[in-house]
Amino acid sequence: MSLLDVIVIGAGPTGSYLAYKLADAGYEVLVLEREEELGKKTCCTGIIGRECVNSFPVDEQAIIRWVNSASIFSPSGKPFRVFREENQACVVDRTAFDLAMAEQAQGRGAQYRFGSQVRDIKIGDSEVAVEVNQQGEESIHKARVAVVAAGFASRLTEKLGTGMLGDFVMGAQTEVSTRDFDEVEVYFGRKIAPGFFAWLVPTTSGKALAGLLSRRSPGIYLGKLLNSLLDKGKIVSADGELSYGGIPLKPLARTYGERLVVVGDAAGQVKPTTGGGVYYGLLCADIAANTLKMALKTDDLSAKSLSRYERGWKKKIGRELRVGYWSRKLYERLTDRQVDRIFDIMKSSGIDRALLEAKELSFDWHSDILLRLLGYRAVAKAADVLKTPFY
Ligand SMILES: Cc1cc2nc3c(=O)[nH]c(=O)nc-3n(C[C@H](O)[C@H](O)[C@H](O)COP(=O)(O)OP(=O)(O)OC[C@H]3O[C@@H](n4cnc5c(N)ncnc54)[C@H](O)[C@@H]3O)c2cc1C
Repeated sequence: MSLLDVIVIGAGPTGSYLAYKLADAGYEVLVLEREEELGKKTCCTGIIGRECVNSFPVDEQAIIRWVNSASIFSPSGKPFRVFREENQACVVDRTAFDLAMAEQAQGRGAQYRFGSQVRDIKIGDSEVAVEVNQQGEESIHKARVAVVAAGFASRLTEKLGTGMLGDFVMGAQTEVSTRDFDEVEVYFGRKIAPGFFAWLVPTTSGKALAGLLSRRSPGIYLGKLLNSLLDKGKIVSADGELSYGGIPLKPLARTYGERLVVVGDAAGQVKPTTGGGVYYGLLCADIAANTLKMALKTDDLSAKSLSRYERGWKKKIGRELRVGYWSRKLYERLTDRQVDRIFDIMKSSGIDRALLEAKELSFDWHSDILLRLLGYRAVAKAADVLKTPFY
């Protein structure tokens, strides 16, 4: 068997994008995907920012609708409407999105094997040996370097010594039927999604995705959310299948090794504020592809050489992950009364308008707007952070 250049484990967006970039540069790439069909088991709302669409080859056919506003509800139901003239984000069909990404990589020459579960990766001095189970048949594929893009809490990273995810949350979601419902809604409150939030996101006509994040019992909270949405007449039925997924809130301790790179959810490259991981995963896959191109060219796939990747992605999103995680922990401590109070202060003092007009307000980059919000003394006081060392 000939030695491949790169084996990518996982054909989610980050794995396929990386495969596309490396195959495009002329490297021999094999993508191994556990599932027989792409995107079918993915639990994702599919909201990605305009910046992501502009920066990456997102297939227009996968875009269901564009979004330029959202209504955010405080625990007691007070609304705060976020609105911009231009579209800020879109909702993609994750199955179509993942398929299109894989097709683009295949179009550049990347090979895909579906139904191929990677069991183990053995790192040698001059190659990596990837052990695969395909419908009960065991096989080994060899390459110069391996990329783990296997999604949330992959056991492979633990085995390879890059550490475990430090913190995570579970998400639950289902498709619902709606009537005259056209705007994204986000709900806060300990009884709705303790420490996190819930959403109702319109997709195709008469359909929406209802979901939430929670550290415990996401299915039970989702059941309650659906009942409340039915009572309020926001949805007319909720008979879709429930899906669950984990979301990392902190990155891995280390995202590279000898002949090894870890990207996307597997590396914990996700916005800790919202749990959105597609854009940050793609940004990091891009940095990984550039590092790998150089390392393959100079045939230096040592950990030292690949550490450039980690420096690169930390430079790009490290601050966002740190400030986002800190803010997330802060939010988790707040009572419903405190959150309501912050909503009131924002409205009565015009902070809401100032934030809406602020140049820092961005769908994908949250640290500046969060720090600006906490810069208002009244908000910081209500959030009880005035005495923290950070403040
Ligand atoms: C409820 C919920 C809602 C979300 N909504 C959004 C959203 O609106 N916007 C957003 O940006 N993000 C959202 N996310 C997060 C988003 O889904 C992930 O960040 C994104 O899918 C990560 O992409 P990835 O390529 O790193 O991993 P994945 O998409 O998880 O792909 C990993 C692939 O690896 C395969 N795999 C795993 N193990 C193996 C193995 N051993 N061998 C071979 N193949 C393997 C899997 O089958 C999978 O296809 C949401 C997550 C949840 C749970």
